[in-house]
Amino acid sequence: MLEKNPEYYIENFKNKYFTNDGKNRAFVNFNGFKTLWFNTGTLCNIKCKNCYIESSPKNDALVYIKFEEVKKYLDEIESSEKIETVGLTGGEPFMNPEIIKIISECLRRNFDVLVLTNAMRPMMRHNFSLIDLNKKYSNKLCIRVSLDSFDSQTHDFHRGQNSWNKALLGLLWLSDNNFNLKLASRKFSAEHENDIRESFKFLFEEFKIKLDAFSNDDLIIFPEMTDHPFSPEVSTECWDKVKIKPNELMCSNSRMVVKKKNANEPNVQACTLIPYDSDFNLGKTLKKSKKKVFLNHRFCSQFCVLGGSKCT
Ligand code: SF4
Ligand code: SF4
Repeated sequence: MLEKNPEYYIENFKNKYFTNDGKNRAFVNFNGFKTLWFNTGTLCNIKCKNCYIESSPKNDALVYIKFEEVKKYLDEIESSEKIETVGLTGGEPFMNPEIIKIISECLRRNFDVLVLTNAMRPMMRHNFSLIDLNKKYSNKLCIRVSLDSFDSQTHDFHRGQNSWNKALLGLLWLSDNNFNLKLASRKFSAEHENDIRESFKFLFEEFKIKLDAFSNDDLIIFPEMTDHPFSPEVSTECWDKVKIKPNELMCSNSRMVVKKKNANEPNVQACTLIPYDSDFNLGKTLKKSKKKVFLNHRFCSQFCVLGGSKCT
């Protein structure tokens, strides 16, 4: 139920510094790097209904980032930043033609590397290279597979026919080959987290997948991310009224490098959730990107600060 009529919300998120009702917009200061993400490109082998970045086999709004472009940022980290983890996300990262070179270079420079994947054919095409990398750097490379549900029908409803079977095969291959592995799933509105974990426990036992369903580290369950056009805004006054603190948000400790279509070079976005919006483009270098971020996007409100709740 909306608090105000729909026309009111259309004017939301227009001014970077003030909310629609004239209050100071909430912002998040940068507190130092935890993870630097690279978006490897938005192309994906599938098109999921709930993909917040709208990846698909056709969406190349973020083009494949090149090895040389990644290297420039790794050089910048080595010369002036302290970052332990490099994250690679897409789209489907294993579709990037230089992904193995990119992963190898990050590992060679001693970063922990986290790769997010749907574990389908694009990943399996690199099976030999991945096994080599895992032998050489097993404690540094982590692969996080997304499986929307323990239930194949629910997963296939969101990700397309037969996608659950293919993802499960990839997951089994990773587990059998002793990769440092994590699974990301979702909690749809009617479900309870404990029930989801119980069901995953059966799945892991049945297929001998080396994951603990009750470990938050092994199995990450994300809330459903349903984009809603009528979102309330977040003012600085809200921080006292919500559970989350600014320094718990991703934009306080992480950034994502993207290469936009037709851009000459990559730029740094405030977080992985807002890859396109120019208001969240923080410049070309990591040094310049360490600015405060004004929460002038409905995702800030919906996914990070308010969820389904209100500030009042
Ligand atoms: S697999 Fe991931 S990146 Fe690809 S469409 Fe689905 S949610 Fe988006
Ligand atoms: S969506 Fe907004 S609040 Fe959330 S991490 Fe990104 S910039 Fe920060």
